[in-house]
Amino acid sequence: MKKIVNYIFSFPEIPSYAKMNFQLFHIESDRVMLRLLVLQWAIATFVTSIKYSTYYYGFFSGALIVLPLVLLYKHLKGERYFRYFIAVAMMLFSVIFIQQYLGRIEMHFHVFIAMAILTLYKDVMPLVFAAATTIIHHIVFNYLQLYEVSLFDMPVMVFNYGCGFDIVILHAIFVIIELFVLGYIVRLQIEHTININESQNRVNELNRELAHLSMHDMLTDLPNRLNLNEKIQNILIDAEKNAKKFAVIFLDLDHFKNINDTLGHDIGDALLKRVAALLKESVSKDTLIARIGGDEFIMVASDFNDQNELVPTINNLLNNFRKDLLIKGYLLRLSASIGISIYPDDAQNVKDLMKYADIAMYKAKGDGRDNFSFFSQELNTKVHTEVDIVNDMQRAFAENEFQLYYQPKVDALNGKIIGAEALLRWQHKQKGFIPPSLFIPLAENTGFILNLGKFVIQSSTQAIKRFSSLGFKDLSISINVSTRQFQNSNLYQDLKENIEYNRIDPTQLGIEITEGVILKYVENTLSALREIKKLGVSVYVDDFGTGYSSLSYLKKFPIDTLKIDKSFVDDIVDNENGKSLVNTILSMGKSLHLKTVAEGVETKEQYEFLRDNGCDAIQGYYFAKPMCEDEFIALLEKDKMYS
Ligand code: C2E
Ligand code: CA
Ligand code: CA
Repeated sequence: MKKIVNYIFSFPEIPSYAKMNFQLFHIESDRVMLRLLVLQWAIATFVTSIKYSTYYYGFFSGALIVLPLVLLYKHLKGERYFRYFIAVAMMLFSVIFIQQYLGRIEMHFHVFIAMAILTLYKDVMPLVFAAATTIIHHIVFNYLQLYEVSLFDMPVMVFNYGCGFDIVILHAIFVIIELFVLGYIVRLQIEHTININESQNRVNELNRELAHLSMHDMLTDLPNRLNLNEKIQNILIDAEKNAKKFAVIFLDLDHFKNINDTLGHDIGDALLKRVAALLKESVSKDTLIARIGGDEFIMVASDFNDQNELVPTINNLLNNFRKDLLIKGYLLRLSASIGISIYPDDAQNVKDLMKYADIAMYKAKGDGRDNFSFFSQELNTKVHTEVDIVNDMQRAFAENEFQLYYQPKVDALNGKIIGAEALLRWQHKQKGFIPPSLFIPLAENTGFILNLGKFVIQSSTQAIKRFSSLGFKDLSISINVSTRQFQNSNLYQDLKENIEYNRIDPTQLGIEITEGVILKYVENTLSALREIKKLGVSVYVDDFGTGYSSLSYLKKFPIDTLKIDKSFVDDIVDNENGKSLVNTILSMGKSLHLKTVAEGVETKEQYEFLRDNGCDAIQGYYFAKPMCEDEFIALLEKDKMYS
């Protein structure tokens, strides 16, 4: 029995997420119950009037029960005690008024229905109060009837069919059984409601999570681009209203790709997280920080009158980035480039502000990175020219405006032409000559260099075939190969096909790569270079000395020739330091058994110094400028005649 009681009356704890809903149920139920009570009041008025041929008794005594509750509703709705009062009131109507003129069964039925209605509360206590009310009522009224007490001229009686304790006890048993049955129903209702709330709660939680995810970057939990756009729009509206300024600060990590490529994405991710934390530390709390892509962050700062006021903050930011960061056992040196655009000075809409901050950031990168730059209209014009060039390149390519020029390389000892470097030239139909220093970086950025690279391979192998057919069979022609060609094209296959197609001697072809290519993609480059070497093609390290390659790197790579960068050659002019540096490079080449070519040789002094110190070949204006294929052939013919 105890078990059953425990089972039925151990009501589940209402979890916090469902409490609110239960509270709403309670208030709603209070309202329903009050309406029912008013209805009961009308019935009571009517029922008593039958016996006493006046509506007063029923009306006034019913009002005693109903009106306090109606008045209290406003203050107590939803409160636990309020529903107990209501339960008691419901029962009083049943037992006092209804029973008077109904039979035992009908009265009981009424009690049962009233209690069943109370289950609406999804709370067992009102039922307990209701049950207690009818039981106590029966006991008390049994005595009153026994002593024939009357109230309001009405004889008080429990039953119109007489009284007695046997009836009181029987009634109590009935009511308690009903209480159990209805209590069980309430329990089921509570469980059911909790279940519904639980799934609802889970759905809400998921929705919240989803909303958060869609607005935040997964890795750093910073607002993402979507979120930023929304927030920045609000900032703009606010700034517009209050005639205030704000700055869009575009930050991009320097050389992040290297870290990702060489150390792996795990380290890259960990680093980005640290960067997010670093940014939060470096700027004021009300600066908005967002991550909008790989290693790109945007901050929005307000509260300044003049853009110069931002400079200390930006410098501080750059400074904080210059520290060495220990990430998963790697000591990483970091720096960032920053571009800034200002509302309303630079632009009045979000799209342009972002674009301009981006442009300014590229300027900072161009200025050597680890730097910042404010946007300016001049910058914009420059970028527009660049965009024009990029757009124009495709057309120019189709219309054969690109061409290879050849700059002779001569033997340092006897001045004979031993080969040439093939250099791209763009002869624009309207604009004239466009220098490679302008279009090559743009072509690299857009990937167009892949088309140009293929063209260079085709064109240079055809030229080698032509040179050979004219009797110049041991020239070595080198072409420049950019990083992208190692990453995104099958350089080996392109070289092989063109060598075979033109049936040239592969040893007449060489590729020039920068130290950057070697350092960036150590493993990939190494295997690609080994294959290319197998073809018979030679490998030059271009701009040697400007990168950071160590001897150990150079030893590992299948390299034939070092091309000493022009900047070192420039320093040969009566500068002891410069001279000893060139000497060091030359002896380094010797110790690695590599050939050396000096680039950008412009004077006799430079030439003689290089020759006397063991440099193998010379390339530079001192001997010849880059020239078209026909001019180069003419020069070769002349060279042959004098030999
Ligand atoms: P680079 O590979 O270092 O090429 C040498 C540059 O130095 C050439 O500039 C050449 O004209 C110039 N130069 C040679 N001798 C002298 C000299 O005595 N004095 C001076 N002041 N300059 C001299 P250019 O042709 O303007 O090419 C610039 C850069 O564009 C090249 O630097 C190379 O990085 C890139 N480039 C040129 N052609 C190609 C190509 O076909 N493919 C790729 N990927 N890059 C190319
Ligand atoms: Ca070169
Ligand atoms: Ca070079």
